[in-house]
Amino acid sequence: MAHKITLESGDAGGTYVIAEVRKHGQDHLVQTDWDRPATARLFGWLPRKRKGCDHRSTDGTVTCTGCGMTAGEFIAEATDFLDRNVGKVIISDYFDNFECVEERNRHGEEYRQ
Ligand SMILES: [Zn+2]
Repeated sequence: MAHKITLESGDAGGTYVIAEVRKHGQDHLVQTDWDRPATARLFGWLPRKRKGCDHRSTDGTVTCTGCGMTAGEFIAEATDFLDRNVGKVIISDYFDNFECVEERNRHGEEYRQ
């Protein structure tokens, strides 16, 4: 079921938190660079086209076979997007895709309902 979720910056530098906007909501810490393209896409990011290529061949974690844009370039662009969109609220079923027992909150504790 879709809920309001928001993007927050994490406690550690370079980390982000995807959090449900409700009391005792789940949250998910985005720790690695490699998770940034998917996180940015969740909040509406589309990588800029290059040479007319819209990068359909990659999720942003491997080099695009269409234009040669590297994972590092996608990650840098995604990071820039995330930094500019902290606080954005969207409606998403993002948390439906996770088993609750595997969720951890931002303090690293196992999430329990
Ligand atoms: Zn491309």
